[in-house]
Amino acid sequence: MKYLSTRSDDISVSAAAAIAAGLAADGGLFLPERIPVLGEDELRKLVRMTYPERAAHVMKLFLDEFSQEELLGFTTAAYREERFPGGPAPVKRVGDHWMLELWHGPTCAFKDMALQMLPRLLGASLRKTGQNETALILTATSGDTGKAALDGFADVEGTKIMVFYPAEGVSRIQQLQMTTQKGNNVCVKAVRGNFDDTQSGVKRIFSDPEMQRAVAESGCKFSSANSINWGRLLPQIAYYVSAWCDLAAAGEISFGEEINFCVPTGNFGNILAAWYAREMGVPIGRLICASNQNRVLTDFFHTGTYDRRREFYTTSSPSMDILISSNLERLLRVFSGSSGQVRAMMDALSKEGVYTVSDEVKQKFDALFWADCCDDQTTLATIADCWKEHGYLLDPHTAVAEHVTRNYMAATGDARKTVVVSTASPYKFCGSVLTAVGAAYAPEDDLIEKLAELTGVEPPRALAELKYAVERFTDVISSGEMDEAVRKFAAQ
Ligand SMILES: *Cc1c(COP(=O)(O)O)cnc(C)c1O
Repeated sequence: MKYLSTRSDDISVSAAAAIAAGLAADGGLFLPERIPVLGEDELRKLVRMTYPERAAHVMKLFLDEFSQEELLGFTTAAYREERFPGGPAPVKRVGDHWMLELWHGPTCAFKDMALQMLPRLLGASLRKTGQNETALILTATSGDTGKAALDGFADVEGTKIMVFYPAEGVSRIQQLQMTTQKGNNVCVKAVRGNFDDTQSGVKRIFSDPEMQRAVAESGCKFSSANSINWGRLLPQIAYYVSAWCDLAAAGEISFGEEINFCVPTGNFGNILAAWYAREMGVPIGRLICASNQNRVLTDFFHTGTYDRRREFYTTSSPSMDILISSNLERLLRVFSGSSGQVRAMMDALSKEGVYTVSDEVKQKFDALFWADCCDDQTTLATIADCWKEHGYLLDPHTAVAEHVTRNYMAATGDARKTVVVSTASPYKFCGSVLTAVGAAYAPEDDLIEKLAELTGVEPPRALAELKYAVERFTDVISSGEMDEAVRKFAAQ
């Protein structure tokens, strides 16, 4: 199967080439030329499989040049119990709907589901396309992605990873998660300033020919763990297939019965994976898109106009504080059927900050999606409610989706069963969760211990043990010193 670019019709590459490159040469995103369909017998077989088997099976359908055994080797290693002690993607009933818990991985957020797989897919893709350089991953992070990428790439052969984070921009827990990272191919630096300074530093280094030459001398080539890489999206399709299979296996739904998914959305990657699962023939009804106060997607779904010219809010669900949802581009390509239209829309977005889809495209979105948003106050109230009613703790991102799900059910009366996609452990956001359940705390308190004592909910081991871990990376540098740091690390 070939992969095409969203922005022109003359690019067509293999899956391995698409994953190795990340972004198409025309600046577009790669997407498969067609979507494989799961037959009824195949779906019945999937119901009886383990998670690694399901994931390997689903991914194989999109990856010609990878063998079934190779992929099963990857998924078995990536999702092994030691890495995902609570299971990779368990579905739990909470009240009258379900939670798909995607945060039992090493960094306690759903990005592990993709970032434990991407390094394996990327390493193999580089070999299959005959590239012998070490892939040097450069990442700027405001929190979740950096740690998940570090953990995914740590000690993966043929790769090195360097993460920069703003010295003033991440929580204490997030910082500790990164500075204590193990592995012989990892490096972490704090950069003085805010996230924008860090991110523009990384972007500059990435596209600087002088830097590319410098790292090439050390046998390295820049690569990215960005959420627009097909190798990050693909592993995410598997858990939607798996969630449906789990409900079917448990007898909660009959064979062929449709379920809805509500996804807390930022970059539109996670919910796009749900759309792919639906196109593959998994019985999925409505895709509910939940945003926080940065409601650019909610407005887009309601009006057909995507307008980033608005105030940016810093919310209690920081991983959804996004004004450009990059992955939407893939769906625009499918729904408009025209790379020219996508190119025009993306041009307009970068030049004017706004674009509008045709009525025809809008109708296609309307037929599948439903969208709503949730401000910070309601997010905290939802955490409190859910704790009081069901004894179940939500993190702020998941709480946004929980609230939107309640609105959806009340507004539509849709009787189909609905699954809320739960994207982070509440223990990753102890401050907000403590505030929500009405507990006072001081900055120097051990918030994990406090939340555990108060609720009796067991914290994930990876977070509880952080306070005993040894900090390896304590450097704080200026953004002007980033180039030198990259050169040095490449040469190591
Ligand atoms: C990244 C992230 C999201 C948003 O996912 P997208 O794929 O960007 O839509 C939601 N919740 C958490 C906890 C995240 O880390």
